[in-house]
Amino acid sequence: MEIAIYGNPVLRKKAKKIPLDKLHEYRSIADQMFEVMREDQGIGLAAQQVGLTDKIMVIDTQDSPDSKMVVINPEITSYSKQTDTMEEGCLSFPGIRANIVRAQTIEVTFYDLEGKFYRITCSDLIARVFQHEIDHLNGVLFIDRMTPAQKLMLKRKLKKLRESQETQSE
Ligand SMILES: [Zn+2]
Repeated sequence: MEIAIYGNPVLRKKAKKIPLDKLHEYRSIADQMFEVMREDQGIGLAAQQVGLTDKIMVIDTQDSPDSKMVVINPEITSYSKQTDTMEEGCLSFPGIRANIVRAQTIEVTFYDLEGKFYRITCSDLIARVFQHEIDHLNGVLFIDRMTPAQKLMLKRKLKKLRESQETQSE
């Protein structure tokens, strides 16, 4: 598995729901995703970032021994009106960081690899990781959440990333 970098069209694809009777097929995929994410010191990784288009993402905020989560078919069911601004990076955008506004608290539903259903309310960093990764599953990237001024400032860096992808695929 390799990280898909901005410019790779897979990042704009929408992920499909995973049938719950196929969950066993995603065990080794999840393990590989954790591995790739750890190598790059990420705290969240979505399917498209490793070239897949199934609704799976992994999270490891690394702040407790049970911080590793495999998240299947997530949906955000409510957003708080209150927002937070926090600096984000993305493994698909090496070298780029930007302040992004997101809901402070969300309610999210998802399944784990055993098919267990969860409905949780979370805030702060974990809520942010969920929002960032669920965006990926919908083909939405953090640059889409930036202000026009932020995007303008990053224009050259973004162009470089895109071009590096074009030369790779030639
Ligand atoms: Zn990302």
